[in-house]
Amino acid sequence: MSFVVAIDGPAGSGKGTVTEALSKKLGLINIGTGSAYRCVALESINQNISVEEKDKIVKMLEDIKIDFEIKNGKDEILLNGQNVTKRIRQKDVAKIVSKISEIKEVRENLNNIFLKISQGKNVIMEGRDIGTCVFPDADVKIYLDATPEERAKRREKQNKEQGIDMTYEEILENIKARDKSDKEREIGALKKADDAIYIDSSNMEIKEVVETIEKEILKKLK
Ligand code: C5P
Repeated sequence: MSFVVAIDGPAGSGKGTVTEALSKKLGLINIGTGSAYRCVALESINQNISVEEKDKIVKMLEDIKIDFEIKNGKDEILLNGQNVTKRIRQKDVAKIVSKISEIKEVRENLNNIFLKISQGKNVIMEGRDIGTCVFPDADVKIYLDATPEERAKRREKQNKEQGIDMTYEEILENIKARDKSDKEREIGALKKADDAIYIDSSNMEIKEVVETIEKEILKKLK
């Protein structure tokens, strides 16, 4: 038996921060699916494969290894054994990741990894299509939203803390481009599941968002 919390929403809506806080508070395994898509994007950069070379990207997937770990209380992501937690947040990866995630075979491959990791466990998983495609029967479904401007502001702050150099304008432009590509792609498009709870966090503190979702989870756990 497993218990699944699915948190979907656009880039910068706070999914990552909220999910990390809830996973620690409630002892749920945190699987950030966006990080896995970012790993595929990074590996294509490392291997000099352009986003247009779909066949090569699909072939590359055969040898790619992605692991989620917790070290010193922090979530880390490993690509072929290397810690790439910070590297996958860089500009070059952010620029191509949405295009990479449009490839059907990439989505199928990663969805299989997500299903395998979560078998028999209690997990909290954040992404774009978790409540609609990956776990349509999730126990709790949340759609977390905020205005593009507010999301860009949050990303700018987060980037500064991590030493990532991007202007507010660059971030806003990237967020808007990713929203469009994420919402308009044919498979795994970003949309609210019919039975998901909608939360607009534009004017909410992270703490408030965490508490709201925690209440929903505890209701179902009882
Ligand atoms: O959440 P994050 O910003 O790290 O996600 C990076 C990109 O990965 C998104 O812009 C989206 O294109 C893609 N993604 C996806 N499906 C998911 C999670 C992320 O297509 N479940």
